Amino acid sequence: MRAEIIKVDPKSPQREIMEKAGRILRGGGLVAFPTETVYGLGGDGLNPESSGKIYRAKGRPSDNPLIVHIGSLRDLPKLAEQVPDGALRLARRFWPGPLTMIFPKTRTVPYETTGGLESVAVRMPSHPVALELIRAAGGFVAAPSANRSGRPSPTLAAHVAEDLGEEIELILDGGMVGIGLESTIVDFTQAPPAILRPGYISREMLAACIGQVELDPGIDRPGTRPPKAPGMRYRHYAPQAPLTIVEGEQAHVADYLNDLARRERQRGRQVGILASDETAGLYQYGLVKRVGSRETDGDIALHLYQVLREFDQEQVSCIYSESFYTRQMGQAIMNRLLKAAGYRVIQVSQSSNKL
Ligand code: AMP
Ligand code: MG
Repeated sequence: MRAEIIKVDPKSPQREIMEKAGRILRGGGLVAFPTETVYGLGGDGLNPESSGKIYRAKGRPSDNPLIVHIGSLRDLPKLAEQVPDGALRLARRFWPGPLTMIFPKTRTVPYETTGGLESVAVRMPSHPVALELIRAAGGFVAAPSANRSGRPSPTLAAHVAEDLGEEIELILDGGMVGIGLESTIVDFTQAPPAILRPGYISREMLAACIGQVELDPGIDRPGTRPPKAPGMRYRHYAPQAPLTIVEGEQAHVADYLNDLARRERQRGRQVGILASDETAGLYQYGLVKRVGSRETDGDIALHLYQVLREFDQEQVSCIYSESFYTRQMGQAIMNRLLKAAGYRVIQVSQSSNKL
């Protein structure tokens, strides 16, 4: 199968196209579509066979549950056995938007969709194409990110075609996504609720709405406690060449990487360097790619996966990245970058670059 790619108006999606996509989903097929976070690979969330197809298409481990997308708050009780007050408040504040919440599941939700768990993850996306697709499909679209398992999530339809073009029927091309990192996940099967995956909606934004919110202690510390979201345990978001994060004062990081990239070049190897707009000019050797400005970190979030994918098209033996602990999205950006790097981090101080 070679997926058909149809361009769709991201602001007001054409009705015939959305009806066609809806028919495929209602018939048990798969459709990739844009959301405000990343592109999703959609199937009917209440059809166990569709969920099975999603796992096979992505090569995703079957114990890694899918998020079910809804288009109306009225549909939540069909999926969630209990919805605590705090969750309702968050839904009213942040839905439609980049927030996923986890609840005890009802019998309606197949175990194939929840990876065998008794809980279900639910989100109401804000992208008009996503909302129209959910409506056309009958209300419940299970959709993980539309990448091959382990690869960076897709922020453009071309990324989906690259990874899944042979596996699915239809890709709706709505241009570039808005945020570029996956949704914030908050677990409401525990009290107080806990963030299982950081995203655009930060802990501060959640706490301002409902008070105490914990952070799953397994998130950024491998080897301690496993993260509670099964998907956070797998190697993820990774480019093909090994990635390492280099931390320290900007000038020291630049000295260290210039030295390293020069030595690698003498051995006939090219190093990839992932830098910000502000720092890219500090590097004299290697293949430097800018991911965006530190001043507008939404830019870094939006381009991170794209740049990681671009390195796969280049002849680089390894990739080094600066760290981006920026204010608004720094936690989400570094969470994905650390995972992509398999938690390899080098700290440089002035003395280490003289070695
Ligand atoms: P993706 O849709 O590819 O961004 O991945 C969905 C993420 O949500 C993965 O990290 C899953 O492990 C997580 N997730 C989905 N359902 C649940 C659940 N019921 N409990 C915990 N984590 C979940
Ligand atoms: Mg994913």
